Amino acid sequence: MEKILKHYFGYDSFRPLQREIVEWLMQGKDALVLMPTGAGKSICYQVPALMMKGMTVVVSPLISLMKDQVQSLVACGIVARALNTGVSEGENQETRRECLEGKVKILYVSPERLLAELELLQNSVLPVSLFAIDEAHCISNWGHDFRPEYTQLDALRSFFPGVPIVALTATADKVTRQDILKQLNIPDARMFVSSFDRPNLSLDVRRGLDSRQKHAAIMQFLLRHANDCGIIYCLSRATADALALYLRDHKISAAAYHAGLSAEERNATQDAFLCDRVQVVCATIAFGMGINKSNVRFVIHYNLPKSIENFYQEIGRAGRDGLPSETLLFYNASDIVQLSRFAENSGQREINMERLRRMREYAEAEVCRRRILLNYFGEPSNQDCGNCDVCHHPPQRFDGTVLVQKALSAIVRCDENIGMRTVADVLCGLFSSEVKNMQLFHVKTFGVGREVPLRDWNDYLLQMLQMGMVEIQYDKHNHLHVTPAGWRVLKGQERVLLSVVHHEEKTPAGGRKGRKATAAPSLGLSVQPAPQQEDASLFEALRQLRSRLAQEQQLPPYIIFSDKVLHLLATSRPSTLEEFGNVSGIGEFKCQKYGALFLKEIAAHVKG
Ligand code: ADP
Ligand code: ZN
Repeated sequence: MEKILKHYFGYDSFRPLQREIVEWLMQGKDALVLMPTGAGKSICYQVPALMMKGMTVVVSPLISLMKDQVQSLVACGIVARALNTGVSEGENQETRRECLEGKVKILYVSPERLLAELELLQNSVLPVSLFAIDEAHCISNWGHDFRPEYTQLDALRSFFPGVPIVALTATADKVTRQDILKQLNIPDARMFVSSFDRPNLSLDVRRGLDSRQKHAAIMQFLLRHANDCGIIYCLSRATADALALYLRDHKISAAAYHAGLSAEERNATQDAFLCDRVQVVCATIAFGMGINKSNVRFVIHYNLPKSIENFYQEIGRAGRDGLPSETLLFYNASDIVQLSRFAENSGQREINMERLRRMREYAEAEVCRRRILLNYFGEPSNQDCGNCDVCHHPPQRFDGTVLVQKALSAIVRCDENIGMRTVADVLCGLFSSEVKNMQLFHVKTFGVGREVPLRDWNDYLLQMLQMGMVEIQYDKHNHLHVTPAGWRVLKGQERVLLSVVHHEEKTPAGGRKGRKATAAPSLGLSVQPAPQQEDASLFEALRQLRSRLAQEQQLPPYIIFSDKVLHLLATSRPSTLEEFGNVSGIGEFKCQKYGALFLKEIAAHVKG
């Protein structure tokens, strides 16, 4: 097992649960594998596939995913193919022939195609040795992403009695798990559930920023990620379009991706992103399921997501290669307003409001955010993570009674006829359009909060909402209403502690913030703390070499080598083919194919 892992994939050891799963499947037994994105589900069926005599058939819901997997395997010297509507009939015909001749080791098919090809599979020289059902939650109409074609997979067990079935997914609650076992007719399948923690993803939340401030914060963020690819999720198409435009105006290679674009446009954007030709994709949730790109270095949520499940799945697209990656969530009052409206009108009001409430609790939390997430997924942890904004800046409090009284009084003096943003305008004495229209500059409290910046007011107002001193009246233009708790403060009967608003420290262009350095050691990455320092210019040279090769072979760069491999090369600077092949992530095939080229680049660099 270890030999195959090293030979084909270049890895020295299995990750947690991988070995147990491989052993289990090798005994011909069924399994359900639940692991978060990036944990390494593919290895769980690919290693058995290579050890077993016959052919392994993988059912996958999306053409882009199949393509990615096949490219990765072929790049490792494994005969993998896909049968689907995304390639020409001629190519499919050729693949069928190769299957019948017993040349194909791993075959990817879409579920509807699988049923049409049952005969082919039964007649192949290489019998089917294993079925792997990827994204298995698609089989359940409980979960999201339900695909009716998946329900027909119950035929597999009766057509191929005795051939083990492994179902794999990154998202499945208890009901969905049971549904998967039932639908696939594998009641005795053993469940392998790994930890859902993704320690290499940093977690950061910024409250109360308006769009202009968000734009500025994103530009600041991108300074630290000059060569890195990432995704920015937006709630609406219009926001995604506007943001992409803004970024392009600021010389960032960015594109929008949403359901309002044609299939060709979307495919072109996805390809460009996979190949590092587009740095940032501003997307609605439509983007991502078909993305296996391992070097997504950041995920930003421009708006609050609908639920923690959505949030976790989306940030999970960062850092699949295990390297430190950043996530950032923006959260303000208009998100709450809009998402509440969606939930109210969703037809599943109760459930969706509850999901939103949990999401808000996360965004408003003052304890380690990772602990909240892990707790949510049923893995309570008793340690702070050291890699989230709360851990980096534990909340500091001050007596904010006077500030809160100013805000409440402004709301009352405006007859509770204004929304959160206008309250802040009034407090800061800004002549915004609402202020002018409603002549609010005559109000006695106009400008009483000038000493506090607008941004901080937005944060304090969110804190007041959180503490129940004000309510948003969804049925009255989202105007704010002072609650009994708010009145007690206003009358001086109770005092209030507010949290200090943390401001991102300004970083010099291209500079890195201190937090990266402090975050790295606690990540438990498998990269050995090398005695040597990484050579940044060598890394850049290797990245360019990888780009060139990728272009020549029309492959996404990360399929040739992951970012992690490039970092390891730039640190260990191997000088022989043997040393090169020992680097984690470089298998025999890639060593032979690319070793000489990369060694030459490294040698030139070391000498120069
Ligand atoms: P998932 O399907 O669970 O999202 P993948 O199968 O795509 O995850 O694996 C994520 C990354 O981890 C890939 O780059 C893969 O090559 C790498 N990986 C998987 N198993 C190992 C291992 N045992 N050692 C090192 N890297 C691994
Ligand atoms: Zn933390």
